[in-house]
Parts: sequence; structure tokens; C-alpha cells
Amino acid sequence: MRPIQMVDLKQQYLKIKDDVDAGIKDVIENTAFIGGKQVQEFTTNLSGYLSVPYVIPCANGTDALQIAMMALDLQPGDEVITPSFTYVATTEVIALLKLKPVFVEVDPKTFCIDPAAIKAAITPRTKAIVPVHLYGQSAPMQEILQLAKEHGLYVIEDNAQAIGAEYTFEDGTSLKTGTMGTIGTTSFFPSKNLGCFGDGGAIFTRDEALANRMRMIANHGQSRRYYHDMVGCNSRLDALQAAVLNVKLTKLDEYTAARQKAASFYDAAFAGHPHIRTPYKAAYSSHVFHQYTIVLEQLENPAEVRNTLNQYLAENQVPSMIYYPVPAHKQKMFEAFGGEAYNLPVTDWLTERVISLPMHTELDEQQLKWITGHVIEFLNKQMTRHTS
Ligand SMILES: *Cc1c(COP(=O)(O)O)cnc(C)c1O
Repeated sequence: MRPIQMVDLKQQYLKIKDDVDAGIKDVIENTAFIGGKQVQEFTTNLSGYLSVPYVIPCANGTDALQIAMMALDLQPGDEVITPSFTYVATTEVIALLKLKPVFVEVDPKTFCIDPAAIKAAITPRTKAIVPVHLYGQSAPMQEILQLAKEHGLYVIEDNAQAIGAEYTFEDGTSLKTGTMGTIGTTSFFPSKNLGCFGDGGAIFTRDEALANRMRMIANHGQSRRYYHDMVGCNSRLDALQAAVLNVKLTKLDEYTAARQKAASFYDAAFAGHPHIRTPYKAAYSSHVFHQYTIVLEQLENPAEVRNTLNQYLAENQVPSMIYYPVPAHKQKMFEAFGGEAYNLPVTDWLTERVISLPMHTELDEQQLKWITGHVIEFLNKQMTRHTS
């Protein structure tokens, strides 16, 4: 059996090696390392893939969020509603820009931000909502967009984990995640569903003025060469990364299908197990399985069992990860925002029980059998321990 990895980038690369190597060689031979043809092409290709008119490439997914928030002209102390159950980048940029993160609950089934919790958190200072399409499935955008419209709020979709996923509205129309709100952002970090060979990111919008503003912000606030109209930053997708992404974008739907196939194998193997809750699939969204995350249920000491399972799997050559062991509201970095005073029982409940299993495009049946066999064997031992 091939060694099991959380994400197997090597096997994936070998299948597209000729095209990727040719693209990289082309960049090197033209010595156009910044900007240039490959970046232009990728921007156009991604815009076509997502059916969104404006795509602004940038250096990483965190910058993408930062540039998005800078473009909205928010004032210090303005409130931004975001889930606590997410990767730190989502919440960190809010604080970095001197805005106030307001952490709310997620839905225990979908792991995405809960519209009822958003509604309860809206105040006269609320300016924006940042839903995260966590683990590869869309947040409930229809409700979120409705709330935003009623209260005049911006919506920035953090789409770092769900590129290619599709949301279906009640009227039957569908849009890709990241293209429904005011702005969408994504990351091309190597382990993301569309990953490059280093850092990369992008921003999407349907608003031309906003697109121009974000393009300027990402380039030192420059309107024409050496004329700087506003304070910006320096955030570029480099040409070598664009060359890789141009190849991988053509494979993205194939990659998604491979992830979904692995997820179905997991689902079937775990079906009916009293201690395993497999990922819920919302009717309104496709699931592109950035992560395959199970919730351990019906255990007296879930965190302990979960952490022991994590170790047991490691001892049996199966990597697994806890995404995320500490929610934002319990991070030291947010002490000043009264993090510990928050009462987010769903987030805390999930934090103790989630575990993510290997998920990538190259998992084969032998590996999946090995993984699921070990997860089940471990949890069955827990059951006999309790009943005896
Ligand atoms: C990966 C990720 C980011 C940050 O992307 P980087 O490219 O690493 O800066 C932001 N939000 C979420 C939800 C992510 O998973």
C-alpha cells in the first residue's frame, strides 16, 4: 500500500507533470516572473470557471480577506460578524484592520455560520458578515444575503475551502461559492482544493468599482505608475504559481469528483456507527470535501477519545487532524475582544468532537479500507470498554 497522507500532492503532480513543467519552464525562459501572460490567462480562466466578471489575483488567502475589507472603507470599531469555528485568518484580519470581530455560532450539522446567530448579533455598528464555506460546503447564503439586504451589510465570503462548490437558491438558480456576496476570497495554498506550489490567493466580485479599488489596494494604492491614491499593500500572485494553477484549474472538477468518491467510501463504511456522525450534506449546496470531518458522538469523554483516536491512527500510519482545536473566541489574540466571555456551546461542542481524515484526489480503495478499518476498530474497542 502507498503511504497514506493527509494530502498527497506528489501523486497528483506526477499525473500532470508534463504540463506543469512546461508551464514553469515557459515562465523561466521568458523571465516574466511578476505579472505577465500566465497571470493574465489564469485570471481570465478563473473568471470563466466561476462565472464572475472580476477576479483579482493576490499573494494568499489572508491578503485576499484583508484587501477585501480594506476596500469597503470600514471605520475602526465597526463590527464584523464571523464564525468562531474557522481558521484563524478569517478573524485575524478583522482585528488587524482595527475592526471588531463579533464571533457567532455555527450550525452543528453543516459547521457553517448560523443565520439565526447572525441576526441576534446585528447592532447599529455592524457593517459586514464574513461567512466561511467550511470544509467544502456552502454556508446558507440565501438567508445570509437576505439579512445583509435588510440591514445594509456587506458580505465577504471566505471561500478558501470550497472553490468549485455550488449553491442553489430557492428559485432553483445556482451560483458558485465566492460569487454571491459583495466580495469572495480564496486561497491557493498547496493543500487547498485548487492549490499551487507555494502561496497564492484571489478575490472575486461583480462590482466593477470595487474591483478597481481592490486591484489598486493590492498594488500599493497605485492609480498609474508612481501615483499612489490610497494606502494599500503589495500582494501579487507570481507567474510561476499562475502557470501551475492554469494546469490545475482544468482538472478542478475532476479533482472534486475524486474527493466526492473518497467521501462516499467513507460514508458507506461509517454508516450506522453509533459513535460516528458522517458529514451532513445540505440540500442547497454541493460538497467539494476540502476536508472529510466526522463528529464523534455518544461518548462520555469525547475529547479524550478523539485525541486518543488521533494518536492511534498515527501509530497505524494514518494521519488525521483536528480542525480546529481552539475556536477563535478562545484564542489569546482575541482576549481584548472579550473572547472568553462569549458563550458558544455549539462551537465548543464541535471543537471537542471533530476529527478530519485523509482527504485528497489520490486516495485509493486499499488506503480507504485501511483508514476506515482502523477508525472503526478503535471506536468498537471504546464500546466494549463501556459495556463491560
Ligand atoms: C487557508 C485558509 C485561509 C488563508 O489562506 P492563506 O492562503 O493560507 O493565507 C483563510 N480562511 C480559511 C477558511 C482557510 O482555510
